[in-house]
Amino acid sequence: MDIKRINESFIGRVNPRIATWLFNRINKLPSIEKKIDQEYAALLHDLEHSVKPYREQFDTYADLPEKGRAKSDILKEMQTLTGIEDSRWQEGYASGAVYHGDADHINFLNQVYALNSQSNPLHSDLWPSSAKYESEIISMTAKMLGAETAVNPSDADQEICGAVSSGGSESILLAMKTYRDWARDQKKIMRPEMIVAVTAHAAFEKAAAYFKIKLKRIPVDADYRADVAAARKAVSRNTIVIVGSAPSFPHGMVDPIAELSELAKEKGIGFHTDACLGGFILPWAEKLGWEVPVFDFRLPGVTSISADTHKYGYAAKGTSVILYRGLALRRYQYFTSSDWPGGLYFSPTFAGSRPGALSAACWAAMITTGKKGYMAASKKILETASIIKKGIQEISDLHILGNPLWVIAFGSKTLNIYQVMDYMSSRSWSLNGLHHPSCVHICVTLRHTQPGVAERFIDDLKAAVDAVRKNPARNGGMAPIYGMAANFPVRSLVGRLLERYIDLLYKL
Ligand SMILES: *Cc1c(COP(=O)(O)O)cnc(C)c1O
Repeated sequence: MDIKRINESFIGRVNPRIATWLFNRINKLPSIEKKIDQEYAALLHDLEHSVKPYREQFDTYADLPEKGRAKSDILKEMQTLTGIEDSRWQEGYASGAVYHGDADHINFLNQVYALNSQSNPLHSDLWPSSAKYESEIISMTAKMLGAETAVNPSDADQEICGAVSSGGSESILLAMKTYRDWARDQKKIMRPEMIVAVTAHAAFEKAAAYFKIKLKRIPVDADYRADVAAARKAVSRNTIVIVGSAPSFPHGMVDPIAELSELAKEKGIGFHTDACLGGFILPWAEKLGWEVPVFDFRLPGVTSISADTHKYGYAAKGTSVILYRGLALRRYQYFTSSDWPGGLYFSPTFAGSRPGALSAACWAAMITTGKKGYMAASKKILETASIIKKGIQEISDLHILGNPLWVIAFGSKTLNIYQVMDYMSSRSWSLNGLHHPSCVHICVTLRHTQPGVAERFIDDLKAAVDAVRKNPARNGGMAPIYGMAANFPVRSLVGRLLERYIDLLYKL
C-alpha cells in the first residue's frame, strides 16, 4: 500500500474534513504507521547523502575524544569544510542567506566578535558595554523606522523602545507573547486571537502554537497583499493583534499597513508590522524614490515592528530588533523573579545568558555602514532586482507574482515550476520553493549585485525552462515532495515527513 493509493482509493472522495479526521485515525494504526514510515524512509534515503556529505571524508565524533585534538588540526579541518561551502553563497548562487558577505566586512565583524567573545548582557555589571551597544542599536533602528515623527515630546509614555533578540522569529514570538499578556491584563481577554495573512511568516504560526493564541488567517488579494475587508470581518472581542508584513517573505509584497493598522487602532488592539525583511531596505528605498507605502511608526496604529539586523542590517547572524510603542507595552515582554534562591533575576527576552559579542558586532555593522552605506546598498539591490524582474518577464513560460521590489517570486502556467527549481539546483542555485500557489523565489542580496550574477541567473533560468519544456517527465529532487504537499489528504502527512527530515539532520 502506498500513500498515493490510500489517497486515491476512498478518502479522496469524501468531505475533506471527515477525510482528514479519518486519515489521521488510520495513520495512527500501528500497521499503517509502519508502512508510512517505510515510505518516508525511502524518500529520505535519497536525500541522506546530500544532507550528510562528510561522513566518509571526516572523522565523526559520537563521543568525546579521549585526548583533546590539536587546535591547529581542528582549524585546518574547518578550513577544508568552509572551503567546500563558501563559494556557493560568495558567488551569489543563494537566495537570501548571506545578505552582505564582502570579505572585508566579514573580517571586521570577526574582529569585533573576537574582542567581545566573553561578554554576556545578563551580567550588566561586568559588561555595561553590552547595554550601551543594545540601547543604541534599538534607538538607531527606531529612528530609521519613523520613531522621530511618531512621538509627541509631551507624551513620554509613547516613546518608541525595544529589545535586541536573537533573530526575526524571536522578535515575532516576543511580540505575540507581549500582546497576549497585555490583553490578558488590560482587556481581560483569556482566549486570545491574532489575525494574520496566509503569507505572513511561519513564525506567527509558531507563536500561536507556543503561546496558545488562536490564529485567524486571512487571504491575500490578486497582488498578494493582505485582504483588509477579510481582516475587518475576522476581528472579534478576543482579537489581541493584527499583523502585516513589509514585505512578506514569500512574494515580497508590502501589505496595506495603513488600512490594517487603522483598523487595529479603531478596535483598540495591537498592530504588528513584520519588517524583518524590509526594515533595513524600505526606508532607504523610499528616500531613493521607489514607490514604498508607509509601514512604520509614522502610522499611529502601528504598535510594534520587528526588523532583522542580521538580514539587511548586515550584522552577523543572531540578532534582530523588536520595537514597541510605549514603555508600558514593552514591560509585558519582560520576565522577573523575586523569590528564586538564585537571587533577584530578570531577563528581557527568551534567553538567559546571551552572546554580547553578537550585539557588539551588530552595533559595529550599523555604525560602519551608516545612512550612506544603507542607501547605497539598497540602491544596488533594487537595481539588480529590476534586471532580474525584466529577465523573468521576458521568459514566456514564467510570470512574476505581484509587483515586488527585491524578493521576486515566479511561477508558470505551463511548466512544473519545481522542476525548474530542481534544474537551477543542478546549476548550483539555491532558490526557495513556495506553495499555495506553486512558485519559486529569489531574494536579492548584495551577493547578487556583483558583476554578471544577475545575467548568469537569467541565462540559467532560460536554460532551466528550456530543459523542463523538452523533458517535463523528469523526476527526482524537490518536485515530487512539493507534489505530495499539494496532494490532499497526503498533505497532512507532509508535516510528519518534515519531522523525519529534522531527525535526519540530527543523525550522526
Ligand atoms: C526572515 C523573516 C522572518 C524570520 O526571521 P528569522 O531570522 O529567520 O527567525 C520573519 N519574517 C520575515 C518577513 C522574514 O523574512
